[in-house]
Amino acid sequence: MIPYIDLHCDTISALQEKKWHLRDANLQVNLNHLKQGNCMLQCFAMFIHLKKTKNPCLDCLKMIDYYYQELEKNKEIAPVFSYNDVLKNQEKGLISALLTIEEGGVTENSLELLRIYYRLGVRMICLNWNFINGVGHPNFVYTQRPDFKTPEEEKGLTEYGIQMVQEMNRLGIIVDVSHLSDKGFYDCIRYSTKPIVASHSNARSICNHVRNLTDDMILKLKENGGVMGMNFCAAFLAEDEAEAEGKDTIPYLILHMKHIKSIAGAEVIAIGSDFDGIDPDISLKNASLLPRLFDEMRHQGFTEEEISMISHKNFLRVLRKNIG
Ligand SMILES: [Zn+2]
Repeated sequence: MIPYIDLHCDTISALQEKKWHLRDANLQVNLNHLKQGNCMLQCFAMFIHLKKTKNPCLDCLKMIDYYYQELEKNKEIAPVFSYNDVLKNQEKGLISALLTIEEGGVTENSLELLRIYYRLGVRMICLNWNFINGVGHPNFVYTQRPDFKTPEEEKGLTEYGIQMVQEMNRLGIIVDVSHLSDKGFYDCIRYSTKPIVASHSNARSICNHVRNLTDDMILKLKENGGVMGMNFCAAFLAEDEAEAEGKDTIPYLILHMKHIKSIAGAEVIAIGSDFDGIDPDISLKNASLLPRLFDEMRHQGFTEEEISMISHKNFLRVLRKNIG
C-alpha cells in the first residue's frame, strides 16, 4: 500500500476542545485511521481563532502541549523535526508527526516568539487564517457574508510579514500560503529563498474560490519548487457546494489534479486533506480511506511514479530543501 503525507489537519484543536484522544477519537484523523490509510507523515496544525482568544500565544502554547501529550501516549507515532527524522521513523515502522501552526498572528509581531516556536518544534506556519493579523492579508476576511470570489490583489505581507518569511527560511520553518491574499502569495514567492507550500488549496480555474490558486500562481509555485496540498473540502472542490456535499468528492479531486498536472506537472501536487476542519459528509470521510483516492488515480491514468510523487515524494523534497 502506498504511503502518504497529509499537509494539513485541524485534529489537535478538535481533540483539545473535546478532551478526546488521538488513539480512538471519533474524528477524521485518529491513530487507527492513520494506520489503516498507511500514513507516513501527518502535519498537525495548531489552529488559533484570533477572535476567540485574548492571548493567541498562550493558547497556541497550550495546544502544543496537548499535541506532545498525545504523542507521548502513543508509541506508534513520533514527532519529526527534519527530513532525516521522517526517514528514520519510516525505517522503524513509525508514523511521523510534524508540528505546524495555522495563524501567523500567534507570533504577535515578534521574531523572538517565532524563534521560540521553532525551538518547540514548529516546522511549518500558515501565515494567515481568515483575519488580518500583522503578518499579512487573507484572501477573504471572516465575516457574516464573506466574499469568496474577489481575491485581495493590493494588500499582501506587512513589513513584519516579510521579516518573518526571511527568518522562517533561515531557521527552517516552511512558509505556508494557504488563506493568504493573492498579493501575499506573490510576496512570498518574491521574498522566500526556499520552496513554499499552499498546504490546503485547490485550483481556482476548476473551482472559483479565493482559497484556491490561479493557474499563474500554480506556475509560480512550480518555479519556486513548492507544492499545493489538495483540500478535500467540498466548497473548494466544486462551485456548487451542494453538488459535492455528501457525494463522491473523489472525481472532483481527480479533476483538480489533472488540471494542475496539465499546466505545471505532477511535481507541484500533494495532499492537504483539511480533515477535522471540514464537513465530514464526503466520500473520503476519514484518513483510513486515502488508498481509495490513489486507486482511483490509477484508474484515471496517473502513473505509479506520479501517484507516489503526489502522495509523499513531492512534500519530502520541499521538507529536505527547508529542513534538510
Ligand atoms: Zn485552513
